[in-house]
Amino acid sequence: MTDAICYRDSYASRVDATVVASELGAAGGGPLVVLDRTVFYPGGGGQPADRGVLLRAADGRRWQVRAARKDGNEIVHELEPAGVEPPRPGDRIEVDLDWARRLLLMRTHTALHALCGVVWRDYGAQVTGGNMEPGTARMDFEFERMNADLVDAIEAAVNTELELGREIRVNVLPRDEAFAIPDLIRTKVNLLPPGIAEIRTVEIVGLDLQADGGTHVANTSEVGRIQVTGYESKGRINKRIRIALAGGGPA
Ligand SMILES: [Zn+2]
Repeated sequence: MTDAICYRDSYASRVDATVVASELGAAGGGPLVVLDRTVFYPGGGGQPADRGVLLRAADGRRWQVRAARKDGNEIVHELEPAGVEPPRPGDRIEVDLDWARRLLLMRTHTALHALCGVVWRDYGAQVTGGNMEPGTARMDFEFERMNADLVDAIEAAVNTELELGREIRVNVLPRDEAFAIPDLIRTKVNLLPPGIAEIRTVEIVGLDLQADGGTHVANTSEVGRIQVTGYESKGRINKRIRIALAGGGPA
């Protein structure tokens, strides 16, 4: 079982760890490494996995990590290039994220939740899906009456919320407790597999509360401003809104 630090401390960008297992990997993929602990986010909920490096303490050798993923209770790091010899079990490793990219993803992810919160609060429209890259994102809503005027109003309202400096709180709740929160029922909590005993929630205090496994900034002021860069109809009811970070936030 990997100690997955990202879920309790999204600002941890490096950690010392020990290799638990490694293998050359399947054809076409890179070598795979499991550590006893890691700061890598393994992807999920629309947020891409982290990239970064592993550094071996003993000889300073360095490996690029192109992605990470969850496999049961473990986080598997995939190295590049394919065919490179991975570190060995027992090796002491310094784990280092591509922090600039991760921070951009955290700001983008929190911006998406602010968008969800505003669209639900002001229009009662539910989210049906979403995805993000560092600095840009899209989100789909059941939002029949969306139009250009509404999109401008949504952009302004999201920026107002971000500027308010709302705190972001992460909690882990027993499943029953999570299911008793009306705000969670409207989002994806009812789609979670029955076997999950605990549910992690991300709250933008005063605006939005969701079941979510992603990494977020601690305060909406760190997001800066967003711009709605496009919207499209994915059918009569389903509409897609595209956003980009538009400046502000951390330098
Ligand atoms: Zn999310």
